[in-house]
Amino acid sequence: MNGLKLAACKEGQERTCFTVGNLCVGRDFLLIAGPCSVESEAQIMEAAKWAKAAGANVLRGGIFKPRMSPYSFRGLGREGLELLAKAGKEVGLPIITEVTDTRDVEFVAKNADFIQIGARNMQNFSLLEEVGKVNRPVLLKRGMTATLEEFLNSAEYILSSDNPRVILCERGIRTFEPYTRNTLDLSAVPALKALTHLPIIVDPSHATGRRELVLPMSLAAVAAGCDGLEIEMHPTPEKALSDAEQQLTGEELVKLAEKVKKAVEFRENL
Ligand code: PEP
Ligand code: MN
Repeated sequence: MNGLKLAACKEGQERTCFTVGNLCVGRDFLLIAGPCSVESEAQIMEAAKWAKAAGANVLRGGIFKPRMSPYSFRGLGREGLELLAKAGKEVGLPIITEVTDTRDVEFVAKNADFIQIGARNMQNFSLLEEVGKVNRPVLLKRGMTATLEEFLNSAEYILSSDNPRVILCERGIRTFEPYTRNTLDLSAVPALKALTHLPIIVDPSHATGRRELVLPMSLAAVAAGCDGLEIEMHPTPEKALSDAEQQLTGEELVKLAEKVKKAVEFRENL
């Protein structure tokens, strides 16, 4: 692939690893868990406790929600980040949240440990340049119709703006199949491993949109060689204000984390 001055894997180059607190991204298996959206203090606190109990190493929660309809719940905004930060502190987990607007980048960078760029903004080049200027790791999600070349070029925007801490996330692409929300492109994991030195994680929640498919696709993603997973989990999924069908319960997250841990150990001994 041409033009990838910084994202491409050069011969003999080591894979990118960086530390955030006690966590070494790219070496330790990353398990990001938490609700689709921060909804209330009680909800995010409860979710944080489950994430910690499951052994997740990052707590997620959306505050700026990109929704298809302007009338859907669009997140608590800046106030939501205060709640997420409080919950993360309470259980001792770093936090991640999505930023959708260049005007919020500084605020999110100041209050979150990781910044997420969502699929819908993968090619929002001014946003990519803005998160490239702050001193926070960025989780870049693959656009729903993006090729791997486009995906890597988006990472290049962040890297070339002087932020070397980029994590890629495969979250499914849009196909003709309506049964699942998207189609998880698992071949992207080994393909990206060969093309780039950046860590690659998988989000089976948005990829499938179906709770019962999250565990099998998590295990498949581990087998494909991913460096981590991002899983949506809600204390009471049926009451969730967004993505109710795909969020796991706390108990389901704990079970998933146990199996994923075994699968990672198994993979290491293959
Ligand atoms: C999310 O992770 O909250 C999200 C909206 O995912 P995506 O951008 O992959 O659709
Ligand atoms: Mn969601």
